[in-house]
Amino acid sequence: MTDSSDAPMDDAGFAAAHQTHPDTAFARVLGQGFVELIELLGDDRRCVAAARVSVRREQLSLVAGDEAQESRDRGLLERLIKDRHTSPLEHAVFQFRVRAPIFVVRQWFRHRFASYNEESGRYVELEDQFYLPERLRARVGKAMDYRYADLPEADNAAAVADVAAVYEQARAVYERLLALGVAREHARMVLPVAQFTTFFWTVNALSLMNFLNLRNAPHAQYEIQAYAEIIEALFQERMPWTHAAFRAHWGVSSVS
Ligand SMILES: Cc1cc2nc3c(=O)[nH]c(=O)nc-3n(C[C@H](O)[C@H](O)[C@H](O)COP(=O)(O)OP(=O)(O)OC[C@H]3O[C@@H](n4cnc5c(N)ncnc54)[C@H](O)[C@@H]3O)c2cc1C
Repeated sequence: MTDSSDAPMDDAGFAAAHQTHPDTAFARVLGQGFVELIELLGDDRRCVAAARVSVRREQLSLVAGDEAQESRDRGLLERLIKDRHTSPLEHAVFQFRVRAPIFVVRQWFRHRFASYNEESGRYVELEDQFYLPERLRARVGKAMDYRYADLPEADNAAAVADVAAVYEQARAVYERLLALGVAREHARMVLPVAQFTTFFWTVNALSLMNFLNLRNAPHAQYEIQAYAEIIEALFQERMPWTHAAFRAHWGVSSVS
């Protein structure tokens, strides 16, 4: 994937420019986009502790446990997930910082069980960054039952150039409107949905799994899936027991 900014930046330079802190997990997506895991509150055992409070035995899972206790904790967590006893899974909370094109963010914000804050096109001038894939996908087949195919090389090159020209023109008009004194929130109406924007996403593990079921799935659009894949890898790394039970017991699109 490429973008419409002037100079291509390597991944290390991109991370240096955008990562909040060297200790966060950071990955570049779709050229100018990224996923940054700022913080995780809780973990697998914290969710088990939340469940054990029912029987006043939460301390067992709050302190460092021996192997036998950890095995019991993992077993309980698996049972909770299998039986859809889901509220304990709300006690682990991920906080992400994400940069993505507006059309991806529009799909993302449909996931209501989360907290969002996004950069404001009223308070700041939007950056000159648009998502521009190297290859456009052609649709082959009927509605609800189709696959994608590559366009012939020459058609693809011409179409990508057309898209780039639209971005360039839209940006030029946006800047002209701002120069005339038109309010930012008004001038932005000319910008395409490929415009990159940044948002904070704070989401508990249960809602995150619903997101992954729907967005890291074969029917999800490629672009949001590219983000969901990274988020699933981070989830798997930070909450390995929960992730394993989630994928074992809640197949694709089966959470909600
Ligand atoms: C492949 C795909 C195609 C899609 N196409 C379209 C489309 O064409 N048009 C469109 O508008 N949307 C579309 N969506 C969005 C989809 O309908 C959901 O809005 C979105 O995926 C968020 O899922 P969610 O409601 O489960 O998540 P959340 O909003 O996070 O909700 C989580 C869960 O809470 C419960 N819940 C939340 N709100 C309510 C409520 N009001 N009442 C009862 N229960 C609730 C549900 O169990 C829900 O699963 C599409 C999604 C996908 C993955």
